[in-house]
Amino acid sequence: MSILKRYVELHPGSRRLASRAAEVFPNGVTHDIRHNTPFPLYVRQASGSHKTDVDGNELVDYVMGHGALLLGHNEPHIMEAVEAQLSLGTHFGASHEAEIRWGELVLRLVPSAERVRFTSSGTEATMMALRLARAYTGREKVLRLREHFHGWNDSVMGQPDAEGTLPASPGLPHGTLEASIVVAQNDAETLERTLREDGGDIAAMILEPTGAHWGTEPIDLGFVRAARELTARHGVVLIFDEVITGFRVSPGGAQQAYGITPDMTTMAKIVAGGLPGGCVAGRAEIIEQIAIRDSVSRAYTPGGRISHPGTFNANPLSAAAGIATLERIGDGEAQRRANRMGELLRDGMRDAIARLGADVLVYGEASVINYFVGPSRVGLRAADLTPQTDPRMLQAYDGKRQQRLRLAMILHGVDIPPFHGWISSVHTEEDVGATVQAFEEALRMLQAEGLA
Ligand code: PMP
Repeated sequence: MSILKRYVELHPGSRRLASRAAEVFPNGVTHDIRHNTPFPLYVRQASGSHKTDVDGNELVDYVMGHGALLLGHNEPHIMEAVEAQLSLGTHFGASHEAEIRWGELVLRLVPSAERVRFTSSGTEATMMALRLARAYTGREKVLRLREHFHGWNDSVMGQPDAEGTLPASPGLPHGTLEASIVVAQNDAETLERTLREDGGDIAAMILEPTGAHWGTEPIDLGFVRAARELTARHGVVLIFDEVITGFRVSPGGAQQAYGITPDMTTMAKIVAGGLPGGCVAGRAEIIEQIAIRDSVSRAYTPGGRISHPGTFNANPLSAAAGIATLERIGDGEAQRRANRMGELLRDGMRDAIARLGADVLVYGEASVINYFVGPSRVGLRAADLTPQTDPRMLQAYDGKRQQRLRLAMILHGVDIPPFHGWISSVHTEEDVGATVQAFEEALRMLQAEGLA
């Protein structure tokens, strides 16, 4: 029986919910990445490294709250902290002590953080970071790297093509696109020239410090170093978007692991312990532009400062979950554990690929795992274990093959998103063993359909 047919057969409950959802949401989903063909799984419950769907199938989970759950689902200390906060109130519409503790932890852990401001998501954090940089420099342009993802606000969407032509990007103001300069990562020469020629107009350079899509296309450390040096030389604010890498790559994020300190850092996911939340942190004189200087009456008026209201900024529940998390990840032990499982998993999956001679690549760093089905189509061999910087990969993704592998993995009790997954500190060797076995079975199914 085909992968697709078995998937449909094994998930009648998800199928029913998906047809209901199709009448409610675009595509029936509430996040682009949750879209799946023929329909997504509906999950009822999760615990540790596992989750259970509405049909009672248990899965080892590598979605892990889209990367938010470094300590796994329902970590007891986080649950206890959130429950304690629930009994006190969910929202005071007022300052509260927990937000200070939460902010102090960010300042203590993240090297670039002299001041911090909490937001409700990573998208809000990058939006605020760019506004702060524009105000601070009096410049408008934003330098981005091709394929680097920073959420869905106007300033970070849409990319000119190789000829520099602006694409049709529905809903984006033309002026915003014109204010974007996009260069390829690892092209230090173009970066140098761009900053030399246009640096006087560029407010900020923003990047994902481990490479496009959290390391799916890994970046050269030398390029990141060059970015630090060149932006400083031209008075451009350097922003590390550590929404994924923050607290994961090391307790202080990629910046701590690399020893490269940006001017500003955007964070979300792990910082809020699995609840909604994010923050922008950085040099005090940049972040302090949010400060109200003269009187309350100017709080919402433009001019002289950057306004930052936000109903759920630093809300008590997210603060409680964030504190419980950051208090537990400061010594690096959780990251070391997750990284070790990541290494075991990548090694095990590569062995399975070699055993079957499958046309699939598995790679990644720390607790992130990437996979790419059909590398031979772009001249890469499955035996290449370090295709890291090959830009052909991102252009050559075949959605059908990637999705089919995902479905086949689900049939064998593992859920990993269509391109990459996240490992938590509570994934066990047993989980890894089960995943490698599931991967091997899934590869066999893909091969039977001529897809790998
Ligand atoms: N930046 C990066 C690097 C991200 O990976 C994401 C989300 N995956 C965002 C920003 C946006 O964060 P959020 O989904 O919380 O808006």
